[in-house]
Amino acid sequence: RLVSAAPSSPREEAMERALRPKLLDEYVGQTKAREQLEIFIGAASKRGEALDHVLLFGPPGLGKTTLSHIIAAELGVNLRQTSGPVLEKPKDLAAILTNLERNDVLFIDEIHRLSPVVEEILYPALEDYQIDIMIGEGPAARSIKLDLQPFTLVGATTRAGMLTNPLRDRFGIVARLEFYTPEELQRIVTRSAQLLGASIDAAGALEIAKRSRGTPRIANRLLRRVRDFAEVKGDGRIVAELADRALAMLDVDPQGFDLMDRKLLEAVIHRFDGGPVGLDNVAAAIGEESGTIEDVIEPYLIQQGYLQRTPRGRIATLAAYRHLGLAPPASRGS
Ligand code: ADP
Repeated sequence: RLVSAAPSSPREEAMERALRPKLLDEYVGQTKAREQLEIFIGAASKRGEALDHVLLFGPPGLGKTTLSHIIAAELGVNLRQTSGPVLEKPKDLAAILTNLERNDVLFIDEIHRLSPVVEEILYPALEDYQIDIMIGEGPAARSIKLDLQPFTLVGATTRAGMLTNPLRDRFGIVARLEFYTPEELQRIVTRSAQLLGASIDAAGALEIAKRSRGTPRIANRLLRRVRDFAEVKGDGRIVAELADRALAMLDVDPQGFDLMDRKLLEAVIHRFDGGPVGLDNVAAAIGEESGTIEDVIEPYLIQQGYLQRTPRGRIATLAAYRHLGLAPPASRGS
């Protein structure tokens, strides 16, 4: 699946690392988040202090991990990277926290999946750079306070709504990452092609950009597939017409929707009369987890105006009927 939440293989991960911009200046788009960070990073650096804790949220592949690396690089400090589900026990987190150097960045991906006991020891760490840890066992056990170096937590999540209030309140900087415009993705594709040594023209880059669901990870992934296609079926150069053929072969339609997107829209329309239909019912109908639908599939469909999320459930819009070549239901007008 092209539009999966995470890099799908070690090889792909290595590729992503290679394509990752290293500094804020190279980070395309996200103007609001970038401007905010530029100011706060500048101020923290000037004072020699740790940057405020940062929460980044938005769908997968929009550049949260990349941004956390950039924050550390701009601050000139180390980055430690972990994720919510990996930190099973308080001592897992304590080990990382006590090893941080002054003003380091700790990146916790999927921070909404921290277990409550781990989250508990994070609070004083975030607030006072202190942790309470238990020494010994049984009746002899006692708790001691340890001082930590000042540090910055960068938390990433696909769902800000899943964070507990006390955790959310401890982030001084909150940035929501948005889907990228085709022009922004065109710049990303052009840059990636250069790094990969692939030959591409502006129209070829735009064709890939328009069909990448507003998401840099998907743009880079499609670029590599199209490059393969160009080498086998063409002379290696990526032009618009060739990109179009390659993407059609990959079942990425002109809107950039893939099979799963179409399956979702078709299910809402054909099985539930266009909605409103509850998330769990749609999930059962297409055999996908409701979490994946909510985090990965529907945000782009909603942003593009093909699906509506209402208190009564999901509704397919007229644009969805049109896109699938269907006549809209009489009750909904033409
Ligand atoms: P997330 O952590 O939000 O899932 P990542 O930071 O891993 O997303 O980004 C996925 C890929 O997209 C990275 O390999 C990176 O090369 C590319 N990317 C993301 N954001 C940008 C950007 N603003 N400019 C250029 N490339 C980007």
